[in-house]
Amino acid sequence: MGEITEDQWAAATGALRTAVAAGDPILLVCHVNPDGDALGSMLAVGQALRKLGATRLQATFPGPQDLPEPFVALPGLDLLVTAPEPPALVVTLDAAAESRLGAYAELLGKVPVIVLDHHASYTGFGDIDLVDSGAAATAVVAAELIARLGVPLDQGIAECLYIGVITDTGSFKYALTTPAVHRLAADLLETGLNPGEISRRVFDTRPFGAVKLYGEVLGRAVLEPENALVWSTASLADLERHHLAPYVLEGLIDGIRCAAEADVACLLKQVGPAEWSVSMRTRGGTDVSRVAVALGGGGHRAAAGFTGHGTPEEIMGRIRDALGE
Ligand code: 5GP
Ligand code: MN
Repeated sequence: MGEITEDQWAAATGALRTAVAAGDPILLVCHVNPDGDALGSMLAVGQALRKLGATRLQATFPGPQDLPEPFVALPGLDLLVTAPEPPALVVTLDAAAESRLGAYAELLGKVPVIVLDHHASYTGFGDIDLVDSGAAATAVVAAELIARLGVPLDQGIAECLYIGVITDTGSFKYALTTPAVHRLAADLLETGLNPGEISRRVFDTRPFGAVKLYGEVLGRAVLEPENALVWSTASLADLERHHLAPYVLEGLIDGIRCAAEADVACLLKQVGPAEWSVSMRTRGGTDVSRVAVALGGGGHRAAAGFTGHGTPEEIMGRIRDALGE
């Protein structure tokens, strides 16, 4: 999945303009456990469609409905509902597989679905695919869609897009941080955003318990030089002991993957009695999205994930096997 064709852009903008003009119910859906790119691109597109005149417009995501603290003041959050009305048109954001849409996957095949995404592992479930695996974030695709709809950026839209971009580029660090990404960031900042405040709010503000938990998770990291692997775990009991919500574990993989001896870093985050959400990163020598897809997940070459069942040791065994193949 590479560039988005002019035909796909025209189909998407046409379908959205028609639905807005007809007053049809439009539903925006981002992936389960939404991160800054999922929520940011969804709420940016939502605000833009509202400026375009959409009246029956709702946004949602599957699974646990608690919003991570860093996102509780995002512009456009009033679009968010837990029980949306049946839509005539669906837009999915940052979700590369049906499984990431939870129960909303039932809408597929019943109403037209426009997909905005940037994962190489995208499974092709949509009717109109705005999917560019070369885009640094879904927010980059969302920004182009908004421009093509002729909606000028305002500060609310820009904040949401900016949060998407900084989330998925590691604040302009990763390989897909192209000149165009910096140009987009410049346009977003021109609306009057305060990048220092946004960055502090999104990445650098956590309860003190998170500091202690990070110490524990980093302290129990295991290096396997023979496998060029470094990994650690964070259990539900860990979160409970420090009275923390799961979102505090976002980004913790960055502390583990700086181990120079390892090419692949894994963080196993417990989500159920025998269920772990696994984050994988590579220094470059491995395609971790291949490993994640083989184990039922997805992602990008350098950052991917899946949900594993069993004990951490069992899951790590499967990862070692998949890495060896
Ligand atoms: P993170 O480790 O930051 O949660 O996710 C890294 C990348 O892997 C993201 O692009 C995300 O979409 C993908 N990813 C993480 N967990 C899963 C999963 O359970 N299923 C799929 N399909 N992709 C995942
Ligand atoms: Mn993304």
